[in-house]
Amino acid sequence: MTDKILSKDQVAAFIDSLKKEYQVFAPTEENGKIIWAEANSADGLLWEFSNTTMSPKDFFFPQSECMARFKNDPKAEGGMIMHPEPELERSRVLMNIRPCDAKAFQLLDRIFIQDEVTNDVYWRDKRDKAILVGLACNNPCPTCFCTSVGCGPHHEAGLDILLVDLGDSLLVKPISDKGKALIDDLPDAKKVDKDKAAQLKKTSEASITSGVTMDNVNKRTVLELFDLPYWDRVSESCLNCGTCTFCCPTCHCFDIQDEVKGTDGRRVRNWDTCMSWLFTVHGTGHNPRPTKKERVRQRFMHKFKYIPEKREGEIGCVGCGRCVQLCPVNIDVREVVNQMNA
Ligand code: SF4
Ligand code: SF4
Repeated sequence: MTDKILSKDQVAAFIDSLKKEYQVFAPTEENGKIIWAEANSADGLLWEFSNTTMSPKDFFFPQSECMARFKNDPKAEGGMIMHPEPELERSRVLMNIRPCDAKAFQLLDRIFIQDEVTNDVYWRDKRDKAILVGLACNNPCPTCFCTSVGCGPHHEAGLDILLVDLGDSLLVKPISDKGKALIDDLPDAKKVDKDKAAQLKKTSEASITSGVTMDNVNKRTVLELFDLPYWDRVSESCLNCGTCTFCCPTCHCFDIQDEVKGTDGRRVRNWDTCMSWLFTVHGTGHNPRPTKKERVRQRFMHKFKYIPEKREGEIGCVGCGRCVQLCPVNIDVREVVNQMNA
């Protein structure tokens, strides 16, 4: 597929053409925070930003999502009547999504859609109706470590299009057929544009100097890592607040509850967190993760041992660094994994 070029003066027209068919969302700044919001024009689009405070997983896996409504009127014919929630009406474009967040969606696809039985229709509907237009990171922050977990600042996995900011213009790389169809009319990029993008990629990758080392984590058995005395130490300072899991683009735990008022009810799924005592408590009252130690261990073991063991080495973290930035007691995932490795 041929790389294209889009002048920044033309971005407004590009968004207008997208809006004919899609709802367009992009990161923008509000009250000093970088958030995702609907982009009705090119105004407010950001070209220089670290990343959004929260990951965009909410677009496909909302923090609180109604799955079905029901009526439970014992006098009505047929007893309880369930109504599935309507599907998404309009397809969406997520513009300027960072490569790490797009890679996280690819990882979650393998969790929400595994086979005919594990086929989450709520996730699938929104994913099928989305186009991901990535914006390569030319200036990663000190907390980014994507290059050590199989990702990178110009990574293409999971994207339909990758944009590289060249200053006054954007190099537009089509990745999927869906992406190619959107940019076919743009002029082809020149060699000088592609060379500049290649140089930016090299510089950006080289600027990421921190990361995780996984060789011993991969070699050791689950039980060897499970029994490390280190878990006592790291769990001491953790507050179990769950911030790290809610901001994480790959965390996907949820809880389903029925909310009932009179004869009407709705089934809702809400984000949950393995950091919560309530998350694993059984109906019997037994809790297999009764203390902070087990819960903190679960978060790191899941991402860096259980998922890689099940999925041919794929790590359950994309190195976005959000949890490093937001943890109120400065628990740094890079340090934890490197301690597991040591
Ligand atoms: S953000 Fe920090 S303190 Fe809160 S649960 Fe995560 S590791 Fe623990
Ligand atoms: S564990 Fe932390 S660095 Fe890794 S993907 Fe989640 S929030 Fe990002």
